[in-house]
Amino acid sequence: MLHSTSVRVRFLGTGTSHGVPMIGCDCAVCRSTDTRDNRSRPSIVVETDDGMSVLVDTTPDLRTQALRHDVRRIDAILFTHAHADHLMGLDEVRRYNWLARQPMPVFGDAATLREVRRTFAYIFAADAPAGGGVPDVRLFPIAGEFCLGRQTIQPIPIRHGHWTILGFRFGRFAYLTDCNGIPDSSIALLQGLDCLVLDALRRRPHPTHFTIDEAVQMATRIGAGRTYFTHIAHDLPHAETCAGLPAGMTLAHDGLLVEVA
Ligand SMILES: [Zn+2]
Ligand SMILES: [Zn+2]
Ligand SMILES: [Zn+2]
Repeated sequence: MLHSTSVRVRFLGTGTSHGVPMIGCDCAVCRSTDTRDNRSRPSIVVETDDGMSVLVDTTPDLRTQALRHDVRRIDAILFTHAHADHLMGLDEVRRYNWLARQPMPVFGDAATLREVRRTFAYIFAADAPAGGGVPDVRLFPIAGEFCLGRQTIQPIPIRHGHWTILGFRFGRFAYLTDCNGIPDSSIALLQGLDCLVLDALRRRPHPTHFTIDEAVQMATRIGAGRTYFTHIAHDLPHAETCAGLPAGMTLAHDGLLVEVA
């Protein structure tokens, strides 16, 4: 049985791997003056009602995101998977080590933690430079439901191309980035949601991400009270796309704060 605590969710980034604007692109969305069309790489911070602050993924934009939203405290990091747009900001953990004077607990499935060790070999090297030069992380493999403080976290296996990666459910909130399929066994874990966050890349088909139409279809099937789409490419202008979505569904944007009772 899931512990139903309330959470506050801050979207640090809602863009696809290139971010929006993309380097060297002059399209209408990349040149838009609507700040909601400005999308850094995908990540959220979840604040639980016992005051823990949980970061999902460490994007290459983590430092900028943390400064922009004044994220001073992170008690744990959850990884959805090890693609570069979700991983490459891990070195910024040094600052949180210093502020909290403690190591950072990092959770991911076995494949993801293997990639963390490989990509950030310097963190785990026996001859790593001592002092402030290296993040101090403790890796915890996820094998089913686990707890951070009083908050139960349910990992949700989702399909990302040929890969199965993790989404996460916190009470009546679920975050499912980077997916183009959700197995029935995982749909069963997504009943009774107040708020769902789901991948919706663009309109054209993609081998590893839902299109906006596929995402709307899946969100309708899951039936959360409200659904926010994330991991958005430059193909989708915020205002125009939202105007065409069904009631209760909208694109997320960087900085958006959502409360889930
Ligand atoms: Zn563009
Ligand atoms: Zn990915
Ligand atoms: Zn991604």
